[in-house]
Amino acid sequence: MTPVVEAVDLARHYQVGQGLFSGNVTLKALRGTSFSMPAGKTLAVVGESGCGKSTLARLVTLIERPSSGILRLDGVDAGAADKPTLRELRKKVQIVFQDPYGSLNPRKKVGAILEESLVINTAMNARERADAAREMMDRVGLRPEYYDRYPHMFSGGQRQRIAIARALMLRPKLIVLDEPVSALDVSIQAQVLNLLVDLQEEFNLTYLFISHDLSVVRHFADEVMVMYLGRAVEQGPREAIFTTPRHPYTRALLSSTPVADPRRRGTRIKLVGELPSPIDPPPGCAFHPRCAYANERCRVEFPEGIDAGGQLVACHGVEEGRIDTAPPPGAIF
Ligand code: SF4
Repeated sequence: MTPVVEAVDLARHYQVGQGLFSGNVTLKALRGTSFSMPAGKTLAVVGESGCGKSTLARLVTLIERPSSGILRLDGVDAGAADKPTLRELRKKVQIVFQDPYGSLNPRKKVGAILEESLVINTAMNARERADAAREMMDRVGLRPEYYDRYPHMFSGGQRQRIAIARALMLRPKLIVLDEPVSALDVSIQAQVLNLLVDLQEEFNLTYLFISHDLSVVRHFADEVMVMYLGRAVEQGPREAIFTTPRHPYTRALLSSTPVADPRRRGTRIKLVGELPSPIDPPPGCAFHPRCAYANERCRVEFPEGIDAGGQLVACHGVEEGRIDTAPPPGAIF
């Protein structure tokens, strides 16, 4: 079956100025990322701030074009598409942003917000658009009388429901969820996540779920891609990533997640140092300045992804078998 999204070696570079008397330098926000997503599944993209996950979201939603690589949406090469084809592709991909306060126009009523994309993209008349908006409001748990209210009259959770309803109005195939619950109270997060799960089942939606919250990812994702400095370093099924993480960065990232259960508290694998600048990434494996397993090869040779027990891992240490991928005694993931 044709994947809903297929990315092949996707890269995005930006030219940034260094000041009045210096030339431009290249910021490599995304340095070659490949993945494929079937219908009805969720791929979570995790990593520290600056790892390239938001850049990836902008490319997949066609807000920006890649510097190189191929992006196929529903089997169509977006890079080679003409304007009418791109317009059709844009209907298939929608995004829900992190901030439900900033992403809704405060001067428009809920009904108008939901109907906007129908006005632009369909031939529906006013009555049909209003019916479609009310139907979607009902589907996401918003009461009919909210149709004539403004966004400021709602709580954060309700606003995120409006944003989700808006994303669904054109019946997309793919929704990019950019930290969709991180601005909400913990009690509301579960309600919104449950709604997203129900909608995925009902509409066979594919989710690209951008998040830094690994406890949410663990409950929500089918596949997980761990990114470091613009590249995927480990990728695989959720359970494999969470129970037997192999890349040293994945292990440190998972180990840094707070654990509420005191019985599961144990040795933490510390992540030392700062994320290097994407303007001047370290040669070889970009993680080598922070990695306890780095050797000379790591400092000069770029690690390609290899299949390590069902997970794709980009690490010389794993390839050479010199990293014990069994969790250290008492380590928590
Ligand atoms: Fe560490 Fe080397 Fe693996 Fe990079 S390639 S994560 S430096 S062992």
